[in-house]
Amino acid sequence: MRVPTFVIVGAGLAGARAAEAIRSEGFDGGIVLLAGENEFPYARPPLSKDYLAGTSARDTIDVHPAEWYRDRGIDVRLGNRVTGLALDTHEVNLGEGRSVRYDKLLLATGASSRRFPGPGAALDGVHHLRTVGESQALRADVEAGTRQVVIIGAGWIGLEVAAAARGYGNAVTVLGRESTPLAAVVGAEVGSVFAELHRVNGVELRMGTRPVDLTGASGRVTGVVLSTGEIVPADVVVVGIGAVPNTELARDAGLAVDDGIVVDAAFRSIDPDVYAVGDVASVFHPALRHNLRIEHWDNAERAGAAAGRSMLDQAISYDAIPYFYTDQFDLGMEYSGYRSRARDAEVVFRGDRAGREFMAFWVADGQVVAGLNVNVWNVNETVQRFIRTGVRVDASRLADESIALDELLAGAPD
Ligand SMILES: Cc1cc2nc3c(=O)[nH]c(=O)nc-3n(C[C@H](O)[C@H](O)[C@H](O)COP(=O)(O)OP(=O)(O)OC[C@H]3O[C@@H](n4cnc5c(N)ncnc54)[C@H](O)[C@@H]3O)c2cc1C
Repeated sequence: MRVPTFVIVGAGLAGARAAEAIRSEGFDGGIVLLAGENEFPYARPPLSKDYLAGTSARDTIDVHPAEWYRDRGIDVRLGNRVTGLALDTHEVNLGEGRSVRYDKLLLATGASSRRFPGPGAALDGVHHLRTVGESQALRADVEAGTRQVVIIGAGWIGLEVAAAARGYGNAVTVLGRESTPLAAVVGAEVGSVFAELHRVNGVELRMGTRPVDLTGASGRVTGVVLSTGEIVPADVVVVGIGAVPNTELARDAGLAVDDGIVVDAAFRSIDPDVYAVGDVASVFHPALRHNLRIEHWDNAERAGAAAGRSMLDQAISYDAIPYFYTDQFDLGMEYSGYRSRARDAEVVFRGDRAGREFMAFWVADGQVVAGLNVNVWNVNETVQRFIRTGVRVDASRLADESIALDELLAGAPD
């Protein structure tokens, strides 16, 4: 009997977790993990945090050591970028006439950093941050601590890089488009906590600015040109303006693509043998009743494994509550919830916002739809329970630290 082969395109965290789940659930066919990069799967969050700051070694970011894959018969092929899909013949093409046949295929191609438009992006000293190599190159440029570092974008990656670059002693300026960093994600009140954190740590935040060009001399960047014509001097520029899902293979093959590759709650595309997961996938969420593309570590981790199980025909309806975290200077934060539902919700604070030790809950129609904790630990499960159970809450009691959160959950279904 012919042994079936499952092929995974993209050896990021989602692809790695899928391969792991497929094997650990007892599948004894072939598993081929095609890695566009020359690296075994690794976690990206440290690339803008401890790894960039030089406090974590290279091997700490690996999902597994190389021999782990070998011992489990997971065939990781490094530097194998897929150039096309032939859905009718069940083949992925690798260029130069090479191809791999699959019985089932998982697309876990992730996302790429959005590039700064214009020729200036190619100057030395201009960095985008997605890969371990890019993190190493950035570290090499900032670790002396004597540079004027300008960061374009006041989102999560921009602010994390600001903290790491400042940690080396560099002069750091962040150029943000909104009036308050992160306001679009966590609202202006929480965003201003991050703004204050950066200011007290010596980062210059210039909000409401629009960089339009980069200037250079002798091939190296010297400044960022703003829409006003002002030039902000820079020795190093970091572009942190978001990511774009790598959907080209799927689109060219005729699969449904909107913001990401469109799949159902079991990660199945419109082709019954092709699945998609991670940053690249737009997944139907059963609780929201619409598709959601999530660019977070936790989603790659858990949805990756769930997609692997789905490929084994296990019944999967992935309904996890989106979760992400950040670490900047001495602030750690976790966020859980549905941003689309939080948009018009009331924000209820609990704890010491000025002292940066607090929680925030987004409450809509008496129910928590999202929540975050800043420098308060071991509460994320509780936050998720509020959201999952839809228990009715009283805002004033939620804000009152003398009332235990568990007390507010009493009577909520499990
Ligand atoms: C610097 C940084 C910091 C982050 N920090 C956080 C954080 O603090 N918290 C959080 O929740 N999330 C964070 N994230 C997001 C998180 O890392 C991503 O959500 C996660 O990496 C997504 O995993 P993935 O496997 O779907 O995609 P990816 O990690 O992008 O992996 C996809 C892989 O597929 C490969 N690939 C693409 N096309 C092809 C092809 N044609 N052939 C072969 N291979 C291909 C790519 O090269 C890549 O290796 C961060 C991301 C970055 C870049």
